[in-house]
Amino acid sequence: MYISFNNNFYKLLILRIISLISFLLFFSEVFSQKVLRVGGDKGFAPYEYLGEENTPMGFNIDILKSVLGNLDYTIDIQLKTWKNVRRDLSKGEIDLVSGMFYSDKRAKEYLFSDPFIKVQHRAFYKKGQQIDKIDQIKDKIIIVQDGDIMHDYVLTNNISDSIIVMRDPENALRYLAITKDVNCVVLMGFYQGQYIIDKLNLKKIEYSNFNILTTDYCFATSKENTDLILEINEVLNTFISSQEYRNIKDRWFKKYDIQQNIYLKYINLIVFILVTISILVLIWIYTLKKAVREKTKELNKNYNILRETTINLRKSKIEAEESNRLKSVFLANISHEIRTPMNAIIGFSSLLKESNTSKDEIDSYTDIIINNGKHLVNIINDIIDIAKIDSGQLKINRTEIDVQEVILDIFSMFLKEIQNNKKEIHFEREIPDKPISINTDRTRLYQILINLVSNAIKFTHKGEIKIGAYLHESRVIFFVKDTGIGISQSMQKKIFDSFIQENDNTQHIYGGTGLGLAICKGLIELLNGEIWLESTKGIGSTFYFSLNN
Ligand code: ADP
Repeated sequence: MYISFNNNFYKLLILRIISLISFLLFFSEVFSQKVLRVGGDKGFAPYEYLGEENTPMGFNIDILKSVLGNLDYTIDIQLKTWKNVRRDLSKGEIDLVSGMFYSDKRAKEYLFSDPFIKVQHRAFYKKGQQIDKIDQIKDKIIIVQDGDIMHDYVLTNNISDSIIVMRDPENALRYLAITKDVNCVVLMGFYQGQYIIDKLNLKKIEYSNFNILTTDYCFATSKENTDLILEINEVLNTFISSQEYRNIKDRWFKKYDIQQNIYLKYINLIVFILVTISILVLIWIYTLKKAVREKTKELNKNYNILRETTINLRKSKIEAEESNRLKSVFLANISHEIRTPMNAIIGFSSLLKESNTSKDEIDSYTDIIINNGKHLVNIINDIIDIAKIDSGQLKINRTEIDVQEVILDIFSMFLKEIQNNKKEIHFEREIPDKPISINTDRTRLYQILINLVSNAIKFTHKGEIKIGAYLHESRVIFFVKDTGIGISQSMQKKIFDSFIQENDNTQHIYGGTGLGLAICKGLIELLNGEIWLESTKGIGSTFYFSLNN
């Protein structure tokens, strides 16, 4: 019983141990990561190279780690010479190459992943050479890395007969730096060349502005490894657009892009300077134009002022000349006007002395002497009045005056004279309906009316003369109307100026000094009134004046 129990127990125990072992074996198989042997070029910086303590480094290595990190692989990276890497891959001693440029020729031999970067290849040459076009490298001595894509390119395209093949790119550029042969041109990856130039501080090397070739850089494996490539492609697809990818790229290449951009920067700077200069020139032209416009405007203004001044001066000159002429005419008139009564006075005075003069003759001579004396006094009074008005020395004495009385006074003053006159003139008056009282200077009001009626008598040969006054809008309007010779339209504006007569003949025919109307106007203005006229040549004139209280 005990044994049989034991037997069963051991049986069970053994069974359990076996199933545990097979379980462990199964899961160890399931969970164990496959080891992926990756080969790469040990001297292909900055893409892949051996760093300190022979650690694989570079852009490809970072990409590889990130991509394969997403897959269940343990990576074993071995970097060797490029020739050996290709040999290992062919022999199946490695599973994957961390970076190989794609070409149709290579695609026949290897299986490529999708590209993880595009690489530009350029020509590097000694400073002082000028290589602007791809044709210019044709007959040069071309230096390439053994087995590199540029090596393939030179051979396939038959670029040159003289090709120097170097073991690694560093040697290629170092050789270019020291060789005296200016015809040497190294063809290699653009970033790669810049990396080496920086690292070895090769100052006398330049590179072309154009690309010899732009190639896809991919992971590569042997033809059978389709699954691996499919797996890698699947990850690459999304990885390439990730921030992590951009960070890796920036870490390794940004500074070369910046260097490349220096040219662009120079161009941009030059463009910027040119644009700035153009803008400044445009602003300058605009400012100049504006200044010219303003100056022209100012000159035009000055010109207009000058023109106006010239016109005014000319006008003043004409006025001055006219005034001079008038003064001469006035002097002639005045001397005539004074001399005539003076001669009469002197002449008749001497006749009085003669012994045989009769009593009647004496009376008649005395009348003539008295009348001429009065006329003389009138002329002198006119001259004094106009001088006082012009100098503002005439004083006004206002008193309350009855307008009806004034009109009647003047009417009776002249009635006799007009009736005794040989002319056929009918004298009329128009007295306001009701009494109007006005506060004004009596003497001056009479002086004005006497002047106007005297003129009306003087310049009317037959017909009617009428004096009157009426109320209009609380103003008293006086008028003297005649059917005399009238005044032309052009003279009506000037007739109130001193020394003005209708024309030079007026003096000869009617005498006078041309002061009467000027005195009237001056007096009326002093009495706060206005004077105006209505006249038609050959029909007659009406002089109006208003007086304010
Ligand atoms: P005077 O009578 O001494 O010439 P006035 O100043 O009184 O000076 O008159 C100026 C001019 O106006 C006169 O010479 C005359 O040509 C014109 N005039 C004045 N009153 C009349 C009028 N009633 N009819 C026509 N012409 C007149």
